[in-house]
Amino acid sequence: MNSTQQIWDDAIESKMSCEVLIIGSGAGGSPTAALLAEAGFDVLVVEEGRWVEQGTVAPFSLDQMEQQYRGGGVTVALGLPSIAYTEGRCAGGGTEVNSGLYRRPPTEVVERWRDRWDVRDLDPDELMKTATEVETDINVTHLPGPASVPSQLLRQGADALGWKHDESPRWMTYPDGNPRHGQRQSMTRTYLPRAAKAGARILTQCRVNKINIAHGKATYADISLANGQAGRISFKFVFVCGGAIQTPAILQRSGLRKNIGQTLAVHPTVKLSARFADAINVPDDVPVHQVKEFAPDLSFGGSASHAGLIALSLLDQWSDFKGAIEDWRNMAVYYAAITSEGRGRVMSVPGLVDPVVTYRLTARDRELLRSGLSRLSLLMLEAGATEVYPAFRGAPIVRGRKDLATLQKRFSANKASVMTVHLCSTVPLGENRDLCGAGSYGLVHETKNVYVNDASLLPDAPGVNPQASVMAIAVRNARHFIAQEKPHA
Ligand SMILES: Cc1cc2nc3c(=O)[nH]c(=O)nc-3n(C[C@H](O)[C@H](O)[C@H](O)COP(=O)(O)OP(=O)(O)OC[C@H]3O[C@@H](n4cnc5c(N)ncnc54)[C@H](O)[C@@H]3O)c2cc1C
Repeated sequence: MNSTQQIWDDAIESKMSCEVLIIGSGAGGSPTAALLAEAGFDVLVVEEGRWVEQGTVAPFSLDQMEQQYRGGGVTVALGLPSIAYTEGRCAGGGTEVNSGLYRRPPTEVVERWRDRWDVRDLDPDELMKTATEVETDINVTHLPGPASVPSQLLRQGADALGWKHDESPRWMTYPDGNPRHGQRQSMTRTYLPRAAKAGARILTQCRVNKINIAHGKATYADISLANGQAGRISFKFVFVCGGAIQTPAILQRSGLRKNIGQTLAVHPTVKLSARFADAINVPDDVPVHQVKEFAPDLSFGGSASHAGLIALSLLDQWSDFKGAIEDWRNMAVYYAAITSEGRGRVMSVPGLVDPVVTYRLTARDRELLRSGLSRLSLLMLEAGATEVYPAFRGAPIVRGRKDLATLQKRFSANKASVMTVHLCSTVPLGENRDLCGAGSYGLVHETKNVYVNDASLLPDAPGVNPQASVMAIAVRNARHFIAQEKPHA
């Protein structure tokens, strides 16, 4: 058991009950738990992963992959090309491992969601007010000092080209004022302790296999405990907050399929390594500058760049690129992310623990990835890179503008290492029954007490880092639930 009395690392009973069961403790589940517990509901949060205190595992290490990521960080959406994705699996979910870059959902995106998916009462101004509250709760702030050199190089390259850029704030505190010593204000530091303080029980290493539903009403969940024992949790209401891949899988295993898991949206991303004349590498830093000249179609930014990650980005054309790794201190990894028109599917398959995931890029997506990688290479040249190594099989080393034509000619999305960490839209919310799996506040259609409250609800990919959208919508929906079920709370 953790030092906080309500946080359990192992189940004490295989049969439990609560008023509200919350499955998953990530960006959606944790604020839901805190708000409902504070409103007086008897809340039980179950989380498949462990409780891992920040700072106890080295960032980007195999140890971290094993303890905090699903499948050791190796998960893939099948397709041409297949797209590697990662999901956090620990108390706090993705918020424990992510880069902490905070972007409010753009107003036009919220309006699109409201109008196309018919999301009742989704008012952009109200949602921004909610976002402001969340920003206070998780301490969204800019760096207290200068950004790292890899981040500043992004800015310099964009300035040289006259491209728009800005610094993304992050959910961080900086206890000693050093911009390199930020502490991520993830869910284990913010909403989960708050939920526990208000009386919520938090059970880690407990997986929900399925929810039992009869005539639209769910009554209990089948669980597996850390010791392998099976168990059951009965409840009055359930919130499924397992993230955009696991939530539809749980619902499908529970017999719910209409508009569930058919519209996965992601931000497909391609990468390159840039080499400079001087040492610029800051191993565990993630650049805060983002280049938004071509947004929302295309965004450029920087990735974590320790030696292992640089080697990984050189792997696609290792025979030509391997010499560069000796010089990793002079290198950093950068990305081009696109707003995709493609969609994917999540399919739970009997006998398999994890669902099968597929994703299909459109012809436009493929062209955007090509032009994105080419423009990002140009940006790095303008920032002073002596050599750029794009991550696709058959890629040339880009040493000057003349090599960009070769890059464009040789690039094919099928040969690239396409990846994503932004997954959403598998149970879109709204009243449009042709498109939506859940109602305007997350109640799964055709059920009486099964709610979704995580990234699955975003009708499509927001074109910006998604956690702010996930949290603002989760808080909005939790408040609506409280108003409905406990109007005097
Ligand atoms: C490496 C990485 C970097 C990222 N960087 C950023 C960034 O800089 N900015 C940004 O805005 N977003 C970023 N994201 C995305 C952001 O983390 C997600 O959008 C957000 O965490 C989604 O919240 P969620 O609640 O939907 O799911 P999650 O946060 O993934 O939480 C879901 C939780 O449910 C648990 N769970 C799943 N199934 C079950 C089950 N059957 N039983 C019990 N528990 C279960 C999981 O273990 C997990 O802990 C990043 C993500 C990753 C992985």
